[in-house]
Amino acid sequence: MSADKNTKIETRLVHAGRAPHQNHGVVNPPIYHASTILQPTLDAWDAVRDPGYAGYSYGRFGTPTSRSLEGAVAELYGADEAVAVSSGLAAISVGLMTLTKAGDHILVTDSAYYPCRKICNGVLKKYGVETTYYDPTIGAGIAALIRPETSLIVTESPGSVTFEVQDIPAIVAAAHARGVKVMADNTWATALYFNPFDHGADLVVEAATKYIGGHSDVMMGLVLSRGPNARAARSTANALGHCSGADDLYLAQRGLRTLAVRLARCQETGLTLARWLKARPEVARVLHPALPGDPGHAIWQRDFRGASGLFSFVLHPVERPALARFLDGLMLFGMGASWGGYESLIMPNDPRAIRTATRWTDPGPLLRIHAGLEDPADLIADLEAGFERLAAAGR
Ligand SMILES: *Cc1c(COP(=O)(O)O)cnc(C)c1O
Repeated sequence: MSADKNTKIETRLVHAGRAPHQNHGVVNPPIYHASTILQPTLDAWDAVRDPGYAGYSYGRFGTPTSRSLEGAVAELYGADEAVAVSSGLAAISVGLMTLTKAGDHILVTDSAYYPCRKICNGVLKKYGVETTYYDPTIGAGIAALIRPETSLIVTESPGSVTFEVQDIPAIVAAAHARGVKVMADNTWATALYFNPFDHGADLVVEAATKYIGGHSDVMMGLVLSRGPNARAARSTANALGHCSGADDLYLAQRGLRTLAVRLARCQETGLTLARWLKARPEVARVLHPALPGDPGHAIWQRDFRGASGLFSFVLHPVERPALARFLDGLMLFGMGASWGGYESLIMPNDPRAIRTATRWTDPGPLLRIHAGLEDPADLIADLEAGFERLAAAGR
């Protein structure tokens, strides 16, 4: 049994990568804990050295558990290859190292996940790759930043703290016109709401830690690729020793089965909270691309199938003790990094400290929300009580 390629992605999420009748009818695939994998004969041992070898040779290079998840995610994206690694950041590093070499210049969005900048400014720089950051809303204007030695443009749309939507088709067109590749961090949307390959991206990374895992208990990254990049990405991951643990692979695959319903609920609750926050006098602005009037709304509407539950809002300036009263007393929103789990989160962030290509001018604090699966009215009541504490603390 396996779902037809013409079925909707929601259907494929349920069926992709499963083969119950190769496993006694058991619905979910078994977990293979493996380092050593034995070869029965000398001929079999030698066959493993063949570059086209498709079997199993050593735990780090793949097991039925990793292939099953990777196959499922590759199918969802229409990719030739998916490689599961130990974190989203590891996936970014594999993507960057696959598509760059010493002497190259790369362009990275100013809204990029902050640790990605650390790879660029530290590791890549050390190995002779220069990074220029660009305004996430640059669109076709990216062409002016492309140099003869530019090899790669990195996008993240929308930015996962500040939510600028990027014009990926325009960026890809400018890049490909000059032989430059595009790597897209698609963690916010997942394959469900946006497929960068449909818009020409060469490589896609996704932190499965977030929505695919979905329960705040897995660290994992995925590197997805097509055509000539596919073998290259696998080979970089193998050469650097990247892989993912058996139990995490299983949990990620289990998360995949419920991704569509969780994401739909996160979207709905996120929008409910965003609209409510927009009407609050304490809030200067809400950064949510699915809200009409958001600067990225038109491109989001053109390119995306939906919005996940992650967005930000900016408060009018408040003193730190008042902000602390607001945050410390929240009962349902946890204060923590990461997102995509079943529980709601809130996280303060200051983009001013990070930006280099653009300036962040909002004077008040930015708070990022991940809308979880709680009842939206309860979440609103929690925020409302927070605003009451804020008012009582005086600005
Ligand atoms: C969290 C995140 C990552 C990194 O994922 P980890 O699994 O935490 O390493 C990469 N990109 C984006 C957009 C993220 O939000």
